[in-house]
Amino acid sequence: MSTLELYSPTDLSDALRFIEHDGRSLAVIASGTDLLPRMRRKQTSPSVLVDISSFTEDLRYVRRSDETIRLGALTTVADLLESPLFHGKLSIIRETAMLFGAPQVRNVATIGGNICSASSSEDLIPVFMALDANLKLVSARGERTVPLEDFIVGKRETSMKPSEILAEVSFSPPGEHSWTAYEKLGRRNMLILAIVNEALSLTLEDDLRTVRSARVALNRVSGKIPALAVKTNAFLVGKKVTDQTISQAQKVLASELSLTSDFRGSGAYRTEVAQVYLRRLMERCTKEIGGPS
Ligand SMILES: Cc1cc2nc3c(=O)[nH]c(=O)nc-3n(C[C@H](O)[C@H](O)[C@H](O)COP(=O)(O)OP(=O)(O)OC[C@H]3O[C@@H](n4cnc5c(N)ncnc54)[C@H](O)[C@@H]3O)c2cc1C
Repeated sequence: MSTLELYSPTDLSDALRFIEHDGRSLAVIASGTDLLPRMRRKQTSPSVLVDISSFTEDLRYVRRSDETIRLGALTTVADLLESPLFHGKLSIIRETAMLFGAPQVRNVATIGGNICSASSSEDLIPVFMALDANLKLVSARGERTVPLEDFIVGKRETSMKPSEILAEVSFSPPGEHSWTAYEKLGRRNMLILAIVNEALSLTLEDDLRTVRSARVALNRVSGKIPALAVKTNAFLVGKKVTDQTISQAQKVLASELSLTSDFRGSGAYRTEVAQVYLRRLMERCTKEIGGPS
């Protein structure tokens, strides 16, 4: 029978030294709401768990400094709900947190665990992608910053090295004439993994009609899992927001992305929903910015 060891480092430096030098198959554990069910299902079998859950002083915070919002990797979904920062243009984060699991899960589930699980149904990944978030990865050798869109390389695959820990997620709050919104489809309202989830960060020009930038991100994209809708985003730039533009953007979205099929829904159904959500997100954002809907 294989054995499982639990290593409880004294601090972050100790954890980083340990994962740098221990040659066995390791997994960092935050709250374990993703990792432990997967271990029980034998989808992953690390021989050592490195418990970082006590590093709340170093890794659990929600801060705004200058023009950047910084979230420690151990920030919980409930912390997001409690923060006064996530109203108005950033209410996307509050909305997403409210749709996440149930209170028991939200109280412990961390944003770092959500991102590092790189799963096809996670709520926060498309939201942080739409916000153009960067990730700070730390190791015993130093630190590096990676855009989230380059971090996720496939289903349950990231560009994080085995010797690294995710320490922080950061992004700039939306500027003038900008808004963000999120849509999630599940079979019920609580304790449900998304069938489709899609986020948009939209900025209009001073005329409040023309798109300056659009970042649509969604999950369950074949091959990429969570991904930016790069062609749709490029198509929207410079266009006036009209019913016709949105219809054309829906077609670009359907042609650029193939969404996965599983027992929760077919790829074709998901694509239909993703198109409907694109319209809804565009309309919600333009209405909030004050432009035409
Ligand atoms: C009942 C239930 C409902 C759920 N509902 C939702 C939902 O609605 N939406 C949703 O998105 N998810 C949901 N989840 C999934 C899960 O709760 C989230 O993904 C959660 O954010 C994971 O965080 P965690 O702290 O528990 O991560 P863990 O399980 O501890 O870790 C997850 C993965 O990330 C790695 N990891 C964790 N932290 C770090 C770090 N700082 N650096 C490097 N690697 C790290 C671990 O090694 C592991 O591979 C649900 C889970 C359950 C059990």
